[in-house]
Parts: sequence; C-alpha cells; structure tokens
Amino acid sequence: MIQPVIAGNWKMNKHIGEAVAFARRLRAAFATPPAREVIIAPPFTALHAVAEALRGSCIRMAAQTLHEAEKGAFTGEISGGMLREAGCTHVIVGHSERRTLFGESDGSINRKLRAALIAGLQPIFCIGESLRQREAGETPKVIEGQLKEGLNNLTADDIGLCIIAYEPVWAIGTGKTASPEQAQEVHRFIREWIARQYGGAAAERLAILYGGSVTPANAAALLAQPDINGALVGGASLDVDSFVQVIGH
Ligand code: PEP
Repeated sequence: MIQPVIAGNWKMNKHIGEAVAFARRLRAAFATPPAREVIIAPPFTALHAVAEALRGSCIRMAAQTLHEAEKGAFTGEISGGMLREAGCTHVIVGHSERRTLFGESDGSINRKLRAALIAGLQPIFCIGESLRQREAGETPKVIEGQLKEGLNNLTADDIGLCIIAYEPVWAIGTGKTASPEQAQEVHRFIREWIARQYGGAAAERLAILYGGSVTPANAAALLAQPDINGALVGGASLDVDSFVQVIGH
C-alpha cells in the first residue's frame, strides 16, 4: 500500500514571514496527522525558518531544485547537503519550469537525481509532455524518454527512494487539468515501464503524483484513480485553506 503524498510547490512566492505563518497554520490544521504525507516546497530563503516552524510536526519540506555538485565554484547554486542542513527531506527535480526556463536537460536532471539521493534527499522527479507533443500523439514516447534518461544508472533501490510526478506541461498553471482518465493512462504507463525496468516490487511501491492545476474541486476525482498516488500542487498550495482542502480529500 502506497501512502499518498500531497506536495505544494510554492515556486518564487512567499517571503519568510508569510512562509512561516503558512507553516504554522498548516501545522495547526494537522495536529492529528492526515492519512496522506504532506510536503511543502518554499523558496530557498524561507527553508530554514519554515523547518523551525515545522519541527516535530508530521509535515515535510522540499526544496524546488538543487545543484548536481556537492560544493564548489557554482555561483548562485545550492547543494543537496545544504538543503538537508536547512531541514529538507525532499527536493523537486526536473520541474517543467526548470526544463523550459532554465535549460535543464534530461542529463543534468539525472545528475541532480543522483546528487539528491547521495545527500539523503527524496527526489520528486517531474516528467510530462507539452501540448504539441500530446496533440502529435507523442506522449508515451516523451514520457519514456524522460524516464529512461532521467533515471539512467539508478538502481531499483534508488527508485524505491524516488517519487515521480507526472505533470503535463499544458496543465501547469493554465487552469486546464488532465481528466482523471487521461492522467490515469499515463500513470499506468509509467508504472508499467518501471516494472519492466526495475521489477514489479519497485513499481508497486512507487508513489506517482499528478500535477497540473489541481484544486480542491478536482483533487478527489484525480486521486481516486488507481495509479494516482497523490498530487504536486502549484497555485492551490499558496493558500492554506485550499491546500488543506486538497490534502483532506
Ligand atoms: C506545478 O507547478 O508543479 C503545478 C502543478 O502548478 P499548478 O498546480 O499551478 O498547475
């Protein structure tokens, strides 16, 4: 049985005071831990303060990216070890905004996944097709390519520490959601691919999250699908009440 995961990706939003206030309210809402694992991904500047606000709670914290190296002359970058020290348990890797706006390739995403695992962080590895690719019928090919390159040289044990997020690019921040059936089809494809490459046990344990305009109104139908094990939530995670509603479904 896979424990469902609801992760909130705040992107470049919330100053430290706002982030801490949110964390305190979220913590208060889940004094009794929910059945779902809850993760929030604040911007770098707020990580340490949010970790302090969440200390001793059931809520986990992710960073939104990391650098592939442990340390060195990489101005502006942050390593996995630094994120661990700041209190992160997870890190988002390969988000479509990182791929499209910051030129992250499948190869660099693969190195970041490995760096995260070495640092003891659980990666939330994002994959997904663009609208053009979906309309051209290329979704399976794109997803398979991202999985193959992104997970290159990872073992079944490594996969056991990863979370995958299927995020169709056309559904991120657009208000357009994949239908539960569309999402389920791709989630099943991902699980079957993992089963072929890493064995059935790894595939059955793998949490595969859906991301793309998840809201309190559509979360329940998406999460009811057999291969959807949670959600990566952008916009709706910025408001504590709407995030709590998504978690609560
Ligand atoms: C995201 O950024 O991962 C995301 C899914 O955003 P939104 O929920 O706003 O579409």
